[in-house]
Amino acid sequence: MGIMSEPVTRPFQAEVSQVLHLVIHSLYSNKEIFLRELVSNAADALDKLRFRAITEPALLEGDSSLVIRLHVDESARTLTIEDNGVGMTEEEVAQNLGTVAHSGSRAFLEQLAQSGNKDARLIGQFGVGFYSAYLVADRVEVVTRAAGGATATKWISEGKDTFSLEPAERASRGTSITLHLKEEQAEFAQPWRLRELVTRYSDYVSYPIQLETKKKEGESETTAWETVNRASALWQRSKSEIKDSEYDEFFQHLAHLGTDAKPLARAHFKVEGTQEFAGLLFVPAERSPELRFGMKPRGVRLYVKRVLIMEECEELVPEWMRFVVGVVDSDDLPLNVSRELLQESPAVRVIRKTLVKQVLDALDAMASERPDDFKKFYEQFGVYLKEGAATDYENKDRLARLLRWESTFATGLTSLGDYVARMKEGQPAIYYAVGESRLALEGAPHLEGLKKRGYEVLFMVEPIDQWVSESLRELDGKKLISAMQADLKLEESEDEKKAREIAAGALEKVLSRTRAVLGDRVREVRWSERLTDSPCCLVIGRGAHGSVQRALRDAGREVPPRERIFELNPSHPVLRNLEALVEKNDPQVAECLELLYDQAVLTEGAPLDDPGAFARRMTDVLLRLTKGA
Ligand code: ADP
Ligand code: MG
Repeated sequence: MGIMSEPVTRPFQAEVSQVLHLVIHSLYSNKEIFLRELVSNAADALDKLRFRAITEPALLEGDSSLVIRLHVDESARTLTIEDNGVGMTEEEVAQNLGTVAHSGSRAFLEQLAQSGNKDARLIGQFGVGFYSAYLVADRVEVVTRAAGGATATKWISEGKDTFSLEPAERASRGTSITLHLKEEQAEFAQPWRLRELVTRYSDYVSYPIQLETKKKEGESETTAWETVNRASALWQRSKSEIKDSEYDEFFQHLAHLGTDAKPLARAHFKVEGTQEFAGLLFVPAERSPELRFGMKPRGVRLYVKRVLIMEECEELVPEWMRFVVGVVDSDDLPLNVSRELLQESPAVRVIRKTLVKQVLDALDAMASERPDDFKKFYEQFGVYLKEGAATDYENKDRLARLLRWESTFATGLTSLGDYVARMKEGQPAIYYAVGESRLALEGAPHLEGLKKRGYEVLFMVEPIDQWVSESLRELDGKKLISAMQADLKLEESEDEKKAREIAAGALEKVLSRTRAVLGDRVREVRWSERLTDSPCCLVIGRGAHGSVQRALRDAGREVPPRERIFELNPSHPVLRNLEALVEKNDPQVAECLELLYDQAVLTEGAPLDDPGAFARRMTDVLLRLTKGA
């Protein structure tokens, strides 16, 4: 029809050559993974076809038995992996096998760029995809025909800098990938070796993987296709007959975290009754590059009656659970379920509730039975739990119990449960302080009164903690109260109270002078009940903690207005001295009050309005101190 049949040669995108190079040089001792990658691509292609056929049954072309076939020619030293899935158009094949736009390899390259280190061992952490074919082959030919398309395309490359494209013949839809094996890799053209690899790596694939077997019957040879994998969806099988290694393989297939990644926890469950669905969820041990770059909305796939409907289905799990990977397979939802329907479906609400419960149960079990694993988990994903505690109203309490912080009592991380167990008799609340670091908080004046009473204080040092603490407020009837909040009330004896009032009564002039000097920089100036050793501090009437305020500003965010209260310690000698200076109308008083205010700003973790003025005043003080020297 006038279409030229000459091959066209095209260069690989530069990143492809980079991936190819890295794959070949870093995975040479792990060559056999190529088969799993190619089989997994074939299974993906079958998934895609099955999904599209729901609305376009004609795509099946009357052939609905979806299979993956392995065909070898020992004398020609070739292995062909064939599927009757969606196939690719010429444009698609050039795009998919000529650029790095797809998930596995792209994530890998990003990770590599980010680590700023060319350590090829990193590659073991990622699904490297199609290009792993070049671990065993020095030439790969792909013949593919898109479902619904009339023509086929042949893609050929020796895995160097270019590939070629030409029109080809193919009777029906699907893709055949023929590997011309390197001499040393001839073993992969042997059926026994392939059978071993399929059962080891690809047993979980839910389509039959068939191996061509030849039988001699007298003179004639017959060929038959033998299914070598179990070909049933792993999540539909009963737990007792699934090996850990099979779960791990499946996890690797889902998580794109590479060939030896293992999950920290899993939940496999079937729900029967008014609603039927199965689920298999994993908690990874590390964050995937997609997650780290904020590209992954969710990690749970939705299947309906074994058909993959949606990857990264947002309706199935709350946002904070986006680190969880897995599948849900519902028997009740319609195959052509839409996003809108998912959002409104009561069936989805039930599924979602179950998934959250399963994950929380698994995390609870990990926390109590495997504290070391939980610690690993928490380092990677603690911030997601915090996000959940702040946003998922229904599960807030269960999430809160999984959170950990450092504290004045604990050297490592501690939970609210452990905190409550350690609470002193009569201690009215759970106390915390928000700031930039443990070091910055340990010496904060705000903690003095709490320390004196023997109360533990949690150190909340992550930006998200402010948000968490605001939405938690209470656990098991115990209020969470910030040591920096204005409404912190500490009990004191009648004698203590009287002594404080007497001390304060003698300092009326300092108080009113401070009010005059600070003006509307603070909402109020008042006597403190929380200070023992420091002369003053700033507490929050309304709005964010000082350190959070600063973090927001650093991040270029709008800083919400807040109200602070300046508290003075009536039994501090500096204030008694100041009272005397006020009586004498000493002009230094205002300068001293400014210095007190600035140090209160610093100890609340906020930036000074005028650091230059602070430095000048400090220098003045130093001058006077050093005068006699
Ligand atoms: P990934 O599977 O992570 O996307 P791969 O390198 O394994 O990356 O595959 C690249 C792309 O090539 C796939 O996303 C898919 O679009 C296409 N592809 C690979 N193998 C097949 C196949 N057998 N049938 C159809 N498309 C395929
Ligand atoms: Mg792949």
